[in-house]
Amino acid sequence: SLRPSFSLPPIDQPLSIAEFALSLLRKSSPPATAGKDIKAITYLVAASSGESITYGELLHKVRSLAVSLRERFPSLSQRDAAFIISPASLHVPVLYLALMSIGVVVSPANPIGSDLEVSHQVEVSKPVIAFATSQTVNKLRSSSLPLGIVLMDSPEFLSWLTRSDSSSVNPIQVRVNQSDPAAILFSSGTTGRVKGVLLSHRNLIASTAVSHKRALDDPVDYDRIGLFSLPLFHVFGFAMMIRAITLGEKLVLLERFELGAMLKAVEKYKVTGMPVSPPLIVALVKSELTKKFDLRSLRALGCGGAPLGKDVAERFNQKFPDVEIVQGYGLTESTGPAAATFGPEETVRYGSVGRISENIEAKIVDPSTGEALPPGKQGELWLRGPVIMKGYVENEKATAETLDQEGWLKTGDLCYIDAEGFLYIVDRLKELIKYKAYQVPPVELEQILHSHPDVIDAAVVPFPDEDAGEIPMAFIVRKPGSNLKEAQVIDFVAKQVAPYKKVRRVAFIGAIPKNPAGKILRRELTKIAVDGNASK
Ligand code: AMP
Repeated sequence: SLRPSFSLPPIDQPLSIAEFALSLLRKSSPPATAGKDIKAITYLVAASSGESITYGELLHKVRSLAVSLRERFPSLSQRDAAFIISPASLHVPVLYLALMSIGVVVSPANPIGSDLEVSHQVEVSKPVIAFATSQTVNKLRSSSLPLGIVLMDSPEFLSWLTRSDSSSVNPIQVRVNQSDPAAILFSSGTTGRVKGVLLSHRNLIASTAVSHKRALDDPVDYDRIGLFSLPLFHVFGFAMMIRAITLGEKLVLLERFELGAMLKAVEKYKVTGMPVSPPLIVALVKSELTKKFDLRSLRALGCGGAPLGKDVAERFNQKFPDVEIVQGYGLTESTGPAAATFGPEETVRYGSVGRISENIEAKIVDPSTGEALPPGKQGELWLRGPVIMKGYVENEKATAETLDQEGWLKTGDLCYIDAEGFLYIVDRLKELIKYKAYQVPPVELEQILHSHPDVIDAAVVPFPDEDAGEIPMAFIVRKPGSNLKEAQVIDFVAKQVAPYKKVRRVAFIGAIPKNPAGKILRRELTKIAVDGNASK
């Protein structure tokens, strides 16, 4: 690591991520909380309704909910998993913190996941209890949950958040060790179906400590007001939500993303910064809607989750010369940020995602030999440090393929690091497709395609797309005599997956190219598609 190192709490000190974040909030004087009563500062505002909660209410509700859950579910134990399937709302961060403060493992899923996807995630994380809303509860129909389902929009749940006696009842007696599991987030990793990424309290503490320190090292002469449209179930949103707490920052929560609504919220709340993924920067560059709103409050965008084209960054800079793009790179498996740009000189190095974070070691490795390569040479990026996941839940094979015996995480990204320590992401070696920065595991779509009676073989690969980054494209080998059409294939998959996972382009082919071991030659297929040699 080329960044200066800094200290973390001693590993043997019992400490949950919830307690760690809230303790930083209580003691952080700069920047947002200087000279103010923390309890009166707003944490979250819902953009749609204008409803909000202050930090004082956050502290009260987290405690009140933790006490209520322990009373209502005496058998809910430390290390048990709780599945959460809810649209973004003011309740979600409260629920995460309350559960983690009593050592329960949170496992949040995408609320628009299909029934099939949700039941797979439940199988992976094996929760004893689930938290849903009346909108999402039917997705849990077929799941087994020993302690049942709690509706987050029920009067009962709301009463658990606001008990008046929570400070008088016995303090919550739980000892959460930093090495205990804290969260199971979902990722397909380098290959195969969705897996559960097990993150410990220590992983989250280490990640939060770095982003907290970076924010303090970057003093600003204005009050930061964030706009939050990232999903709260993905590591980027999860980590950013916790980071805001450590800084006492105000966040405006956009529950459903829509460009016009977002721009309107920037104007209304005088937003200064937002975490975004590259497709949003593309949209801001292209859209005429930006002219209809006063966006002068905007100072910085934190961008990550997928590659940001150098040309897009430059066009953005021409259109919004006063708004800085801070780039970051990370994975669910590295508890979010592993590299980021910092300060005005680094942020204009478009093309680079910055330098490796404090507390992480990185090396570039020749993937065929495992040998470390010198600066400037391309290879697979390997990462090691306290933010690297514990492993994939109950999946020793995938864990062993991804984490080596010395603790190095194989990212599946083709990268190089220049002589000054700047990281460049060149390409993705792993199977993963990223549609608008959302993960689309091709194997999942291939399994669905194989179940179609007219399909003999199928492969799904990324196809470059300016707006979305990549779209999933299917290559299909049809049964002889079948006249299966593109629209039918698209429709067949769409019925079984979340909308962002849809196949959006189809080509028919005589045979799927594979290596002698039967592995699909995905790059070859993408090349055929891009070169325009695929038949429709
Ligand atoms: P996820 O676990 O969903 O965050 O996906 C992690 C993967 O997203 C990484 O391994 C990269 O392939 C990709 N990724 C994330 N951030 C960036 C970035 N700034 N530039 C290029 N690719 C990125």
